[in-house]
Amino acid sequence: MFCNQCEQAQDGTGCVDSGVCGKDADVQSLQEILLYGLKGMAAYAHHARRLGRSDEAVSAFTEEALFATMTNVNFDVPTLVGLVLECGKQNLRVMEMLDEAHVARFGQPRVAEVSTATRPRPGILVSGHDLLDLANLLKQVEGTEVLVYTHGEMLPAHMYPRLGDHPNLAGHFGGAWQLQRREFADFGGAVLVTTNCVLEARESYRDRMFTTRATAVPGSQRLAGDDFSAVIAKALELGPIPERTGVKLPVGFHHSVILGAAPAILDAVKAGSLTRFFLIGGCDGAEPGRNYYSEYAAGTPASSFVLTLGCGKFRIMGHDYGTLLGLPRLLDMGQCNDAYGAIKVAAGLAEALGCEVNDLPLTIVLSWFEQKAVAVLLTLLHLGVRNIAVGPAAPAFISPNVFKLLQDTFGLKLIGADAKADLAAALA
Ligand code: SF4
Ligand code: SF4
Repeated sequence: MFCNQCEQAQDGTGCVDSGVCGKDADVQSLQEILLYGLKGMAAYAHHARRLGRSDEAVSAFTEEALFATMTNVNFDVPTLVGLVLECGKQNLRVMEMLDEAHVARFGQPRVAEVSTATRPRPGILVSGHDLLDLANLLKQVEGTEVLVYTHGEMLPAHMYPRLGDHPNLAGHFGGAWQLQRREFADFGGAVLVTTNCVLEARESYRDRMFTTRATAVPGSQRLAGDDFSAVIAKALELGPIPERTGVKLPVGFHHSVILGAAPAILDAVKAGSLTRFFLIGGCDGAEPGRNYYSEYAAGTPASSFVLTLGCGKFRIMGHDYGTLLGLPRLLDMGQCNDAYGAIKVAAGLAEALGCEVNDLPLTIVLSWFEQKAVAVLLTLLHLGVRNIAVGPAAPAFISPNVFKLLQDTFGLKLIGADAKADLAAALA
């Protein structure tokens, strides 16, 4: 453990192994899980609040939970486990509010094909998760020659008709966040990053990169409000971006779309022609171990659907999965907060089949990177979802005792070293 949050910090630097206050590594671990879950939830709540949605119960819980992490407030493992699971419950509410706000503001999601080609006109690349920033930018480029492209976690914007049908929204460029330094440099136009995951900008594109509100990097311009005229002016000044050919990416498998196909899905489950659902997604990252997810997804049987979300989707997209029941076998549900949609689908199927979510033929293999993934994991644990596999590495802030507690209570496990062996075990 390491803690330096109060004056008593050992040797004036920090408490390691145990706290001068008496806090041990397991209490510290649970307090950190709680803090990181709160951070992830706060990001989603920020998006929801900007769209006019908030819940006093979420704010009250946030205050209480932060209070519990202060010095000499809580040394009790069961209480902290309860707060950690309550964080998952509150995050479910936040993801629900965000989903409702997205649909209300941007329209009922539908399946769409998104081009990855770019056209020789001034361009703006928009990355991050804040769909309202994208909507405001699109409004401000209306009537100009500037074309807007999504990047990374902004790809699911295309499933919302009021965004996807906008004449200035031209397509998608690039993959997950860790590729942005190369992709932002290559794009050639202005770049707008609305949230994480942003990387410090390279010299080559620093002066044409903009960020919004909490998101900022040295040397680039941070916009505190909703006026994107500086971004548009930069795109016009830079002129046409290079023309490139591309492919079509299918998006838009929102929970409402998948549940709309529920009768055919349920018939296929009962007939045995649909044998399993896999949820493979979450965050992406640069570590070589993340190839596990692409190998795992590529090995899934033709009689299964692979649901995906978050930027982890880019890791598994480069494979032809074929179709099942007239749908692509790989169903992109949206951003990481659309984990809410995966929960809705699982709950809907379980109800229709008269079983519990844990009894569904469902395998969950999550990739985590940062604190939103922590919040989503806590939500799944709050719902009692068992046997989730997470990777590529164990969170450093979970102590061995706390991990064992989560293993014993929820069957939580780490991904193995061999994707094929883990897949075979899931199918056995
Ligand atoms: S809160 Fe406890 S563990 Fe943290 S610095 Fe203070 S004495 Fe050390
Ligand atoms: S899913 Fe996670 S890792 Fe990926 S861009 Fe979003 S916050 Fe970052």
